Amino acid sequence: MHEFPITRAAQLKPKPDPKTLSFGKVFTDYMFLMNYNPDQGWHDGRIVPYAPIALEPSAMVFHYAQEVFEGMKAYRNPEGGVQLFRPMDNVRRMNDSCERLCIPTLPEDLALDGIKALVKTEADWVPSEPGTSLYIRPFIIATDASLGVHASHTYLFCVICCPVGAYYAEGINPVRIYVENEDVRAVRGGTGYTKCGGNYAASIRAGERAEGQGYAQVLWLDGVHRKYIEEVGSMNVMFKVNGEIITPELTGSVLPGITRRSCLELLRDWGYPVQERLITAQELFDAAAEGKLEEAWGTGTAAVVSPIGEMGWEDKHTVVNGGKIGDVTQKLYDTLTGIQWGTVPDPHGWVVKL
Ligand code: PMP
Repeated sequence: MHEFPITRAAQLKPKPDPKTLSFGKVFTDYMFLMNYNPDQGWHDGRIVPYAPIALEPSAMVFHYAQEVFEGMKAYRNPEGGVQLFRPMDNVRRMNDSCERLCIPTLPEDLALDGIKALVKTEADWVPSEPGTSLYIRPFIIATDASLGVHASHTYLFCVICCPVGAYYAEGINPVRIYVENEDVRAVRGGTGYTKCGGNYAASIRAGERAEGQGYAQVLWLDGVHRKYIEEVGSMNVMFKVNGEIITPELTGSVLPGITRRSCLELLRDWGYPVQERLITAQELFDAAAEGKLEEAWGTGTAAVVSPIGEMGWEDKHTVVNGGKIGDVTQKLYDTLTGIQWGTVPDPHGWVVKL
């Protein structure tokens, strides 16, 4: 376990009421920082008061978006302790993102120890009301003051945290989603399998358009053939068709979600036939027309499992499972959240207690 120096804040902030929290607006007292340069590698890991970061206007991250990030949560367990869910998977995915973006990878243990040290320092910020958690956002930015398009030589690794209220404070309501025909989020050969800011910048326009039409999320199609389903909003997507679970395979333009992986492992444990394969929007709407589309849901750290109740595509429209959450969706939600909050057994050893 690496040790990191802590610079104490002069004053701690009041903790917000978890019932009125909106996502990602309130940040905790401290952040974790660590620098990279070619001589020292990753060095000087430290915990300091949460504060603005001074960067040159020419810092490369502002111009060419050489940056990666992660998203994970810390949960309050029934014993009052704090626990993480598959945190090494996030560290490994961040390193996969780094490789694609030409950012030097982090030693896995050093990165995880930094995240753990920050969450331990901020343990009082992990809320205990049902459904609440502490969201953790690690990220790395290119800091060279230089306008040439090449890899930066210096980087900053930073971790910030924010308490989040219950995602389903008003109960789990299935969402309406819209198949996007114009914009694409990512293409094979690009950066879709990474968590880099550029992917999200490219997704905003379609998201705004869908919201304007009363839909909660965009159902993304692949960028080459414009027909294969990839993801829903910033979640992976799964369907139950005729008793079988189908999810888009990881072709390079789909983010390998940790919730996706966990759902697939649970579904296989439970004996469901699971297929990771290409699936077209046409196949999906045909299955719906034939009454074979039984359930549809998104998976991701924020919502865990998000049932899809309605889908629109051009002039077509379909309701899934009468607009209600399906049995498999509900079972996945209950089991995964139970493991994350420590109320159901964790046979795979996914939970890491602090
Ligand atoms: N796809 C995208 C594009 C995402 O941003 C996320 C959230 N990280 C996911 C899928 C789900 O990944 P995870 O289950 O690891 O949160």
